[in-house]
Parts: sequence; C-alpha cells; structure tokens
Amino acid sequence: MAEIIFDIAIIGGGPAGLSAALTGRIRNKTVAIFEHLEHSTKLQKAHLVDNYLGMPQVTGKGLMQQMVAHCQAHEPTIIKKKVINIFPGEVLTLLTPDDTYQARVVILATGVVNTLLFEGEKDFLGRGVSYCATCDAMFYKDKKVAVISYTQEGEHEASFLGELCREVYYLPQYEYKELPAMRNNVKVMKVKPRVIKGDSQVEKLITDQAEVIVDGVFILRQSDPVENVLAGLELDGEVIKVNRDMSTNIPGVFAAGDCTGKPWQIAKATGEGLIAVLSAIGYLETKPRQAEK
Ligand SMILES: Cc1cc2nc3c(=O)[nH]c(=O)nc-3n(C[C@H](O)[C@H](O)[C@H](O)COP(=O)(O)OP(=O)(O)OC[C@H]3O[C@@H](n4cnc5c(N)ncnc54)[C@H](O)[C@@H]3O)c2cc1C
Repeated sequence: MAEIIFDIAIIGGGPAGLSAALTGRIRNKTVAIFEHLEHSTKLQKAHLVDNYLGMPQVTGKGLMQQMVAHCQAHEPTIIKKKVINIFPGEVLTLLTPDDTYQARVVILATGVVNTLLFEGEKDFLGRGVSYCATCDAMFYKDKKVAVISYTQEGEHEASFLGELCREVYYLPQYEYKELPAMRNNVKVMKVKPRVIKGDSQVEKLITDQAEVIVDGVFILRQSDPVENVLAGLELDGEVIKVNRDMSTNIPGVFAAGDCTGKPWQIAKATGEGLIAVLSAIGYLETKPRQAEK
C-alpha cells in the first residue's frame, strides 16, 4: 500500500471523522478513514439522541447509520484497521498492525479514552505493556501474557496470542453473554485489573481478586491514549491541545471531536471535523509536494 499517498488520513470513523471525510471528498481530496471497530460503538449505545439539530428523537445507532451512509456516498476509502503509530514528516506514515500507509495530512478523530489508565500502564509501555497483539506478539513467544479488553476485538487477539504464548489470561471488561471457544491455554478471568507491576519489565498484574504473574499485558480499548499513537503530540491535560483552526503542535496534524476536549457532544464533534478538514486543505494548498518527487 505504501505507493498510495492519500491527501488526508482520518483516524477514527465517528461523527468527527466522518464529518471531516465528507467535506474532504466534496473538496475532491483523496481521503482514507481508519476505523478499527464499528463506527463509534460509543454513540451506537445511546438509546435516544435528541440534541442534534434537525434530527430529533433518533437512536445513536440510527444516527450513525445515516452519517456513515452519507459519507460513504462520497466514496472515501474506509480502512478497517487500527492505527498504532503515526510518524510525522513531509509525508506522514501510518502504521497499522499489518501494513503502512502514507498521507499528506492527518486528522485525529479518535474520541476519548473513556477508562482510567491503570497504575503502571504508562511506566511499562514498551516494556511489557502493549496495545497491539499483531505488532508485539513475537516478543512474548512461550511466555505468559494478560489481555485486558474493552471490546470484542480482544477475543480474536487473545486467540491469536494463544498460538504463540505459553499462557494467556483473558480479562474481558465488556458485557457479553457467551465468549467464543478459545484455545486451551487461554484462561478467561472475570476480574477487574488494577495495577501493572514489575522492575525493568512487567512482572505481574494485580486485579481486584488475584495477582497474576505475567511477562506482558495487552490493553485493548476503543481508543488508545493518543500521545502513544503520535509521539511529541502536545496535550492539554488529557486531551489534544489544538488551535482555533484545529491544528496541533505537529505540522500537518489536525484533531477534532471528543479527543480535543469537552463538551463531548456530536454537534461539537461534527463542527470540529469540518474546521479541521478545511484547515487541512488550506495547509495542503500552501505546501509544496517536494517529498513525493
Ligand atoms: C451512551 C452515550 C450516549 C451519548 N449520547 C449523546 C447525545 O445524546 N448527544 C450528544 O451530543 N452526544 C452524546 N454522546 C457523546 C457522543 O457520542 C460523542 O461526543 C461523539 O461520539 C464524539 O464523536 P468523535 O468522532 O469525536 O469520537 P467517537 O464517536 O468516540 O469516535 C471515535 C472513533 O475512532 C475510532 N478509533 C479510535 N482510535 C482509533 C485508531 N487508533 N485507529 C482506528 N480507529 C480508531 C473508534 O473506534 C471510534 O469509532 C453520548 C455518548 C455515550 C457514550
């Protein structure tokens, strides 16, 4: 895929990302939307949305379906993958678990990390804590790992890790009726994780019920802490620091929606998506395409 350079890559296919993609396509730019789950699983849980102007009394799911259909009619490229890392440059490189992509600008529309980070999570990132099984599984060959998952995606990741690792503890943190059959070495634990501990590397995971001795902890959320996806990104507390035009401190990187802060509402997300993409297009128009020559 490396030979295609998209004008605009949008990370996240919720209201902010779809709004940015729609206008990007209307302005005739090549647009890739990266979305690893259903579009905004968060909003799809809302039983009733009654504050989005012009669309009274809709379900969150119904609203998302309309947004997705509207956006898809303008034919952006939708890539059902999680962006794990972004590397800045004249052309930005985006890393997914199994591929790399390139874009001239990036719009972050990843939503918020709506769970607290675990004690020790930041300290052990890259030293036993990982957000991507496909990327890092090989480091844990024949070892013991825990998978803490807030989405069903984790079931697949735990099974995959089970092929390589000696033992996998699967800690689902979402509601489920029945889990699919998994390999014998994948043990499901209905516990709440609390603290990740170790010395130079992860050594154990402490939960509300037990201590689990592990070499690695995989954490799978709807959205990862954005500073881990893009190193050097300036934050304002927990959210991305943006200027009035939704630009960030990194040239060519814009942000929109919940990931830039409150109010966490659809109207703010779609409005910021629009501003971000118009600013991104303005940026593209002033930027010589030297890197592609
Ligand atoms: C139960 C509930 C009810 C709500 N009700 C209302 C309401 O009535 N009215 C209202 O205005 N707001 C409501 N909200 C808030 C609203 O859902 C959010 O403000 C809105 O969805 C924000 O849109 P967003 O695009 O910024 O982020 P999100 O909707 O969170 O979308 C972000 C998307 O990015 C994807 N993503 C994240 N990281 C990556 C990555 N690295 N690679 C690829 N994809 C990635 C995620 O899977 C997700 O789909 C509600 C929220 C909840 C949880």
